[in-house]
Amino acid sequence: AKNTYKGNNYMFFDAELSKKIERKNEIGFLLRRADYDKELVLYYQPQYNTQDHSLVGMEALLRWIQPEKGFIGPGEFIPIAEESGDIIEIGEWVINRAMDQIKKWNETFSSNLKVSINVSPLQIQKSNFVSWFREKLYEKNVDAQWIDLEITEGSAMAPDSANEEVFASFAQMGVTTSIDDFGTGYASLHYIKKFDFNRLKIAKELIDNIYEDKNAKLIVQAIIMMAKGMGLKTIAEGVEDMKQFQILKMLNCDEIQGYIFGKPVPAEEFEREHLNNKMNKHIS
Ligand code: C2E
Ligand code: MG
Ligand code: MG
Ligand code: MG
Repeated sequence: AKNTYKGNNYMFFDAELSKKIERKNEIGFLLRRADYDKELVLYYQPQYNTQDHSLVGMEALLRWIQPEKGFIGPGEFIPIAEESGDIIEIGEWVINRAMDQIKKWNETFSSNLKVSINVSPLQIQKSNFVSWFREKLYEKNVDAQWIDLEITEGSAMAPDSANEEVFASFAQMGVTTSIDDFGTGYASLHYIKKFDFNRLKIAKELIDNIYEDKNAKLIVQAIIMMAKGMGLKTIAEGVEDMKQFQILKMLNCDEIQGYIFGKPVPAEEFEREHLNNKMNKHIS
């Protein structure tokens, strides 16, 4: 019971906790006054076809280089931005930059590649998000078919008709949608089919254990079979080694994203590593 702890223990935990709160407040403060164009940058990570190893697209992943603190990971600052509401403005910046990049790549490489953009549930729940997005496509003259939106399994998938409408609107626009981190949240299989989306991204947590843990493999197999039955594509995220890759290939997972094919890198590096040489040399 708690009251058996010595006073020192309480002091220790208090100190840890206040350090965490302090860091969180500091990041929130720095993010609020950040100059996005100077401090934020999009990295891109490739997505490859499992069977023929062709490049199918890339995910835009946000990086923040804070002038004094250096690199701060999205795993740390995105939740803070979601809490403060700054994610709306950050998310708009991300979509603007990603669309510019798509435009550029389509012109330079005439590549039929999709850029996946992460959107926060808060963004899509904002009432004018769909019309804002449609206007952006028009303004930047970007073809909707080159964009995929990744939405994390979670509140965006609550059985709510407003959420259903958002997915339906994007489908109508020709923008595809993926459910991110599938298998870790609470999307129920019962209503998942209500949402008009295109692809399931199987969570890294499941992929991590795919050859040590028989249950993880069975779950991944079941997800892939279910997705196929529903006409959805599957992509495995966080694939790091050949053993995982072989199992996913055997299970007929459509696409692979992970360090095995490449880490997230700046656009210029992505061009050198993946666009000038569409076939990946490392995988045979
Ligand atoms: P996510 O969307 O699930 O992105 C995949 C994460 O897994 C990325 O982490 C990526 O670098 C990492 N990853 C990919 N392959 C491997 C692998 O083989 N091994 C390992 N160890 N990791 C791998 P990252 O870039 O740190 O992003 C973390 C999360 O932050 C993202 O998870 C996403 O939820 C969020 N995020 C990133 N950029 C944005 C953004 O522009 N908007 C929003 N709303 N969220 C973003
Ligand atoms: Mg994602
Ligand atoms: Mg993910
Ligand atoms: Mg994630």
